[in-house]
Amino acid sequence: MTRTPPRFSDLLHLRGNALERGDPIALPLVQSSMFHQPGTPEGPGYGRSHNPTWEALEHALAHLEAAPCRIFPSGMGAISAALFATLKAGSRLLIPSDGYYVTRVLSAEFLAVLGVEVSERPTAGFSEGGFAGFDVVFLESPSNPGLDVIDMASIAAEVRRLGGITICDNTTLTPLGQRPLDLGVDMVVASDTKSPGGHSDVLMGHVATRNATLLERVETWRMVSGAIPGPQEAWLTHRGLETLEVRFDRMCSSAQVIAERLADHPAAETVRYPGLPGDPSHNLARQQMTRMGFLISLTLKDEATAERFINACPLLRPTTSFGGVHSSAERRARWGDDVAPGFVRLSVGGEPVEELWEALKASLDAL
Ligand code: PLP
Repeated sequence: MTRTPPRFSDLLHLRGNALERGDPIALPLVQSSMFHQPGTPEGPGYGRSHNPTWEALEHALAHLEAAPCRIFPSGMGAISAALFATLKAGSRLLIPSDGYYVTRVLSAEFLAVLGVEVSERPTAGFSEGGFAGFDVVFLESPSNPGLDVIDMASIAAEVRRLGGITICDNTTLTPLGQRPLDLGVDMVVASDTKSPGGHSDVLMGHVATRNATLLERVETWRMVSGAIPGPQEAWLTHRGLETLEVRFDRMCSSAQVIAERLADHPAAETVRYPGLPGDPSHNLARQQMTRMGFLISLTLKDEATAERFINACPLLRPTTSFGGVHSSAERRARWGDDVAPGFVRLSVGGEPVEELWEALKASLDAL
């Protein structure tokens, strides 16, 4: 299933190459709940099912994913759509026990209550126990926040052989860092709130799939649940997406440098980054990822040390989200993730790398 990845330069000119004389180069924001629709109800009619600004964002995302996409008002909106579109009472769902925690909350507090049998497994060792009997296997690789990596192609092939489907949360890498659909995964879900939006000013998510039946279910879910994005948010995400390649490239390159230096710093008890040659994820990451990402997991001595490190650094925003142009960090145990009290998820931003390292090092040296 090897495909040539879509060219980012074509994404930048997707719209331009279809313009007529006098059309605006920038995407127009269409803020309307109703559309002129006399007679037979064909084409755009109502803002819960259609919006031209959504469609422009979906067109751009579809180019990057090389698959049709539907956008949602957040990453969790996309994950909910994918799961509600594929599960029913009696279905069996397997999710990572160490992935993004809200997916576990959704599964335990809503899906299980409706009769879905939910099982959890750690990302490291995800294949142990096999996949027989699972209708939907939900993958997250690299896992957030531990950054463990799983062999997506072999899991997708095995689940498909057994009659199930795979869904991958590709938030941490985006299609520029990893292409789950090309690895055989049935559906991708992502939070575009993170690096695709990139400026910490919008929430957005999308589902991508090459399976027309699944796509139709997801679209119907959006229309009937009413979980639709606002046109303004779609416009902002479209604008963010146009600089994703530049930002992502800088963020991943800087993360490699920072991870290597952190690993040598005496205050760091452990550093996890798939790009470090000694990292347990490294070999698999090199096989299936084209970039190693911008997230680094850093464990410091204890809670107080980690908080001091984050809050004393002028180039780190203490935030719960990641993927923005401003570097940010969070002690994940504050949300109950199963990690050490001094575990910090560091999201490397767009600052020049030497300036960022100088600030990080000063904060670490002062601990
Ligand atoms: N998936 C992952 C891996 C995440 O980290 C997040 C948010 O942090 C989400 C999904 C949910 O995205 P959103 O906050 O846009 O709903």
